[in-house]
Amino acid sequence: SKQNGRNGFSFYFEDLSSDSKRVLKLDGELRKAIENKDFELYFQPKISLSDNRVVGIEALVRWNNEELGFVSPAEFIPFAEETGLIIPISEIIIHKACEDLRKLRDAGYSDITMSINISSIHFQQVNFLKSIKSILEKNNTSANNFEIEMTERTVMNNDTDTVSKLVRLKQLGFKLSIDDFGTGYSSLSYLVRFPLDYLKIDRSFIQHMVSLDEKQAVVDAIIQMAHRLKMKVVAEGVESVQQLNLLREMGCDFIQGYYYSKPVPMDELIEFLQIWEVV
Ligand code: C2E
Ligand code: CA
Ligand code: CA
Ligand code: CA
Repeated sequence: SKQNGRNGFSFYFEDLSSDSKRVLKLDGELRKAIENKDFELYFQPKISLSDNRVVGIEALVRWNNEELGFVSPAEFIPFAEETGLIIPISEIIIHKACEDLRKLRDAGYSDITMSINISSIHFQQVNFLKSIKSILEKNNTSANNFEIEMTERTVMNNDTDTVSKLVRLKQLGFKLSIDDFGTGYSSLSYLVRFPLDYLKIDRSFIQHMVSLDEKQAVVDAIIQMAHRLKMKVVAEGVESVQQLNLLREMGCDFIQGYYYSKPVPMDELIEFLQIWEVV
């Protein structure tokens, strides 16, 4: 038992040090990646249930590092938020989104909007509006092409600063979405106070909707509420035709998920759109 304890102890220590090694590595490699603008964007289509059209695409960052391999944004984005590296990363992402939007427009898709995910850390920067405006200007494109996805965390500060930033974004032409809806904070007061366009129902509700009546009830209630508040609803993480049919019955507006397409690079997205039009 003493032996076990020692093994347990040393195992724990080794684990800890390999963890902190990874963190150090991540930090160093992320800084290099920022310097080299070494990120890519993948895109997932968003389909309108009423007319089966691709109305938008969501940009999702991808980072493939020589030493670490593919690092999921679910790992490096939270890390970048803690270290502040999210701000330069986010600026690179917005810049790349503008470039890829150009490709999409050149391929003849003139009215598909592009969603970008904005971290609350970036949103709360004093010069957030200025930085996003200047990137768009540099790329000679307008805010009307974009939708901003924020989580509840970003808008939960019911302060005047947040309200005025959101109003300014709307005035510039951005559409505003609440991402991962239902997983964050319980207060819903911001829904009334802020000029929001879309609610994105979190995948965790969609995932078990077919087998769990309770999840279905929540999804149904979110859709009804959003519509009463003049917002449209996006269901994310739709993987099956059963989920799709339920969501259609409930009056959900837009669908995103592997059922239609995984996130793919812009060239592949354009191929997807070309096939989509024919079918
Ligand atoms: P999110 O914004 O909620 O993005 C949706 C995630 O669900 C994406 O994972 C997407 O690939 C995945 N997904 C879409 N459809 C399905 C489906 O049918 N089934 C399953 N199992 N998954 C599906 P991804 O790309 O790994 O991104 C994870 C999270 O990382 C995002 O969650 C977002 O919070 C963050 N993230 C990704 N790209 C960016 C970015 O450019 N900027 C910021 N600030 N955060 C980002
Ligand atoms: Ca999102
Ligand atoms: Ca989401
Ligand atoms: Ca999420």
